[in-house]
Amino acid sequence: MAGAASVQGRSGGAALAGLIAGARAVVVFTGAGASTESGLPDFRSPQGLWRGFDPFQVASIWALRRDPGAFFAFYRERLSRLGGARPNAAHRALARLEALGRLRAVVTQNVDGLHQAAGSRRVIELHGNLRQASCLGCPRLFPISVLEYQLQRPSGPGELPACPACGGVLRPNVVLFGEPLPEAALREAAREASGCDLFLVVGSSLQVWPAAGLPLQALASGARLAIVNQEPTPLDGAACLVVRGQAGEVLEEAVAEVEGLPSRGQGRGPEGLGGGSGGLGGGGVGGSRGGR
Ligand SMILES: [Zn+2]
Repeated sequence: MAGAASVQGRSGGAALAGLIAGARAVVVFTGAGASTESGLPDFRSPQGLWRGFDPFQVASIWALRRDPGAFFAFYRERLSRLGGARPNAAHRALARLEALGRLRAVVTQNVDGLHQAAGSRRVIELHGNLRQASCLGCPRLFPISVLEYQLQRPSGPGELPACPACGGVLRPNVVLFGEPLPEAALREAAREASGCDLFLVVGSSLQVWPAAGLPLQALASGARLAIVNQEPTPLDGAACLVVRGQAGEVLEEAVAEVEGLPSRGQGRGPEGLGGGSGGLGGGGVGGSRGGR
């Protein structure tokens, strides 16, 4: 297995464009780093969402049941931040790539809905989303505004947001700590990972299991792996390209370059970039907990 080429800034975008141009099926996997340029904090960096919080105290299924006051205060704050967030250059570039017919799917750990807001059509959300509210008592989904309205109005002591249909507790439709990932989304993501020949990680530290298993699955199926992230990840050694840089800048550059290439015919693209190297990197990904 060839060692990863690690590049910065502009040359990173160009190198990435070369990989995309040579690929038959590209799947992108995004994490919090894809949304930081929209003003949304990531989780574990010094400025991250978990600074000063224990995620288990505020964003777990236990918190919702045992300390709903802290739980809903945390999500009220997250929802108000999200209200002002707009897609950034990274989201727009990926939507453009899909429109060009060069991106099969975006698999995301993010719950902010910014890929869809940018125009991406095939988005697989592994951790649910903050566009909807779900109910602890029935299977119905509601627009998040139904929950936001109840969180903003003054409520009596111990009064919780209630489902308009059954009166059960209303909650954001995200996967909380202590909850399993949605099976259908995981299955679809796994299918995309094993069916692609270029798996591109954007803005994920690949620490969160089991989502971080997707790049391994792609590698095992013979795909190439490329990583755009500010920080090192445990799979850098298994990637054919690692770009250290801002997701927006790198992707904008890469997609502009791809756009300048002649459009591709039915399933035929430029050859010459070689097949995937199937090897798995040495360092394993630690079994780590989720983060939303
Ligand atoms: Zn209900």
